[in-house]
Amino acid sequence: MRSHAILLADKYPEERTLLVQFTHIDSYDPDLASYLLENPAKSLDAAENVISSLLPAERSHVKLHFRIAGLPLDARIEIRSLRSKHLGTFVCVEGLVRKATEVRPRVLDAVFKCARCNSELHVLQEGVLLKEPLECSKDVGGCGRAAGSTKFILLPEESTYEDTQKVEVQESPEGLRGGAQPERLEGFLIDDIAGKISPGDRVILNGILTGNQRSGPQGKSTLFNIMLQVNSVEYREHEYDEIQITSDDVEKIKEAASKGDIVKEISSSISPTIYGFDIEKEAFALQLFSGVSKSMQDGTKIRGDIHILLVGDPGLAKSQLLSYMSSLAPRGIYTSGKSSSAAGLTAAAVKDEFGEGRWTLEAGALVLADKGIACVDELDKMSDNDRSAMHQIMESQIITVAKAGITATLQARCSILGAANPTYGRFQDEQLIGDQIDMPPALLSRFDLIFILQDKPNSSRDWSIASHILKAHRVGERRKLDHTPEGVPDAEVQEESKLVEPTFDRDFLRKYISFAKRVNPILTDDAISLIREEYLRIRKGGEEQGASVPITARQLEAYVRLSEASARGRLSPIVEKEDAERAIRIVGHYLMKLAREGSMLDIDRITSDMSHSQRSHATVILDIIRNNANEAGVVSLDEIMAHASKLKIDETEVRKIIERLQRGGQIHEPRPGMGAYKAI
Ligand code: ADP
Ligand code: MG
Repeated sequence: MRSHAILLADKYPEERTLLVQFTHIDSYDPDLASYLLENPAKSLDAAENVISSLLPAERSHVKLHFRIAGLPLDARIEIRSLRSKHLGTFVCVEGLVRKATEVRPRVLDAVFKCARCNSELHVLQEGVLLKEPLECSKDVGGCGRAAGSTKFILLPEESTYEDTQKVEVQESPEGLRGGAQPERLEGFLIDDIAGKISPGDRVILNGILTGNQRSGPQGKSTLFNIMLQVNSVEYREHEYDEIQITSDDVEKIKEAASKGDIVKEISSSISPTIYGFDIEKEAFALQLFSGVSKSMQDGTKIRGDIHILLVGDPGLAKSQLLSYMSSLAPRGIYTSGKSSSAAGLTAAAVKDEFGEGRWTLEAGALVLADKGIACVDELDKMSDNDRSAMHQIMESQIITVAKAGITATLQARCSILGAANPTYGRFQDEQLIGDQIDMPPALLSRFDLIFILQDKPNSSRDWSIASHILKAHRVGERRKLDHTPEGVPDAEVQEESKLVEPTFDRDFLRKYISFAKRVNPILTDDAISLIREEYLRIRKGGEEQGASVPITARQLEAYVRLSEASARGRLSPIVEKEDAERAIRIVGHYLMKLAREGSMLDIDRITSDMSHSQRSHATVILDIIRNNANEAGVVSLDEIMAHASKLKIDETEVRKIIERLQRGGQIHEPRPGMGAYKAI
């Protein structure tokens, strides 16, 4: 201990902490360990004094902190379970950092000057309000005047300070039972541990729980808030460490993986009460596993997370699917694009009560879902601020906040599962997706998969869905009773209950997913050539003169991520042909639905605001305007229509293109509302 302290003291002030594992204290003296948990303030003080006394005289200025980490699991207390009996004790809480203030100094030893006699007085500070001397004490050579008959002036340069930071942690969503609101706790960090925590981090905070008296306009209250004087911080690196897996579980997991098509089995366990959506659920299963994230030799990072967007008519169980997914995924978060908090989906710097005058960085949903899945309902309703930050998040998976002197980069390495409603209520097949939802094409192109859910009446399918929903309701009703009453066929109800029972229950699935995420599969030659062939096959369609660009390298990456996820799902260390085939089938489904133009694919239908054919129409219309202009350079709309109809471009299309050309600054209407245009 002594030699350790001396070594540390040599590195002072860069190193200011002696960190001890709790288990060491416990194995040295269990009584001391439990005394420490009950009387932390005294014990830590004593320990710090001992450390100082061990140091040689020339190091007497060194003040080392004594910090303890690695508390046993049973010492961990959930934030919602903190009670008055915990006040003053050493507690250990686990949570997700929502807010963190800037690091600012706090005066520790304030030095004052007596305005009458100029002698200097030291006052040790605690609490938030500055304590001034009560008198100019004669003991330290002062004039003895009381505070009322002199003035004390603070000498900032003479005083000593320490760094402080305030954070707010909230319970991890995993620990929450069914829809409970996560509770929050404030933590106070001092000196060398201040400034290391950022919003979105998963941390374990060890420290002393203290009461903080509330004060209102009527004076001091008998009610207290609680806050944690943080002694040490531990970080959670991996999302999969949060789920405990026993060796028994591992056996079951391996057995499940060895039988049949496990990815299919898992997809059918996602929201079994929701009928259909087979291919979507298969994609969801892959999203749960996600592809392999890579950091290359040159420092580039390639995301492994799979982003999926559901666009669909109302009442098609989108919200249901999303909330189910958020409950399955490790670190899953369900949120709405219309989030009410200042941080929204991304992050914000705010100056509010929490920061007590300092700026606070607050994490939004996507930062809180770091290394998990963010299920964002009504994604099209997000704020403009979020919209611009989304590009960065979806590709580089970070968000930079720059405001009022704060520049911070927060990690948001999450997969996004978004849902959006078409602007005009229902999705129209022929129209571009960019025209139908309120999201910029550049953002749409960043999704690996976009699924369109349409509600088209079809009697045989409707029969199946209706039967499924009705049976599911009956099973739910039956679960409330201890026997099936007369008039309802018992055997049938039993049979129906199997229909909506998942193959794997939620707990097992969560374990399976966290186990599978430790596998990092690598592509085989077979898989590479299969994906390459598919890519080349589709690209070939674009080689003809004047043809559209069918797909881009972005889709190529989607193939890779989905195949990796499929291999992970099988717990396979290699990505094989069957994985590539699955990826090709799923991406193919998406492209055929959204990017088909005649018998060809045209990726511009998704990733830009004009399809290839519209773009060529746009050139035609621009030519019409140029060639038919009168002396003033103007052409009337009627005339444009007449020419366009000869070329078989219909009226709505012409109007749409004119609007776009105007927006793009290529033409303008010299007198608004006159219905005539001029090329620029
Ligand atoms: P959305 O978010 O797409 O507007 P919701 O998730 O609110 O739709 O779903 C509406 C209701 O319809 C839910 O209660 C859901 O269970 C039910 N529902 C819709 N489609 C199906 C389906 N295919 N199978 C079972 N239930 C369904
Ligand atoms: Mg909904």
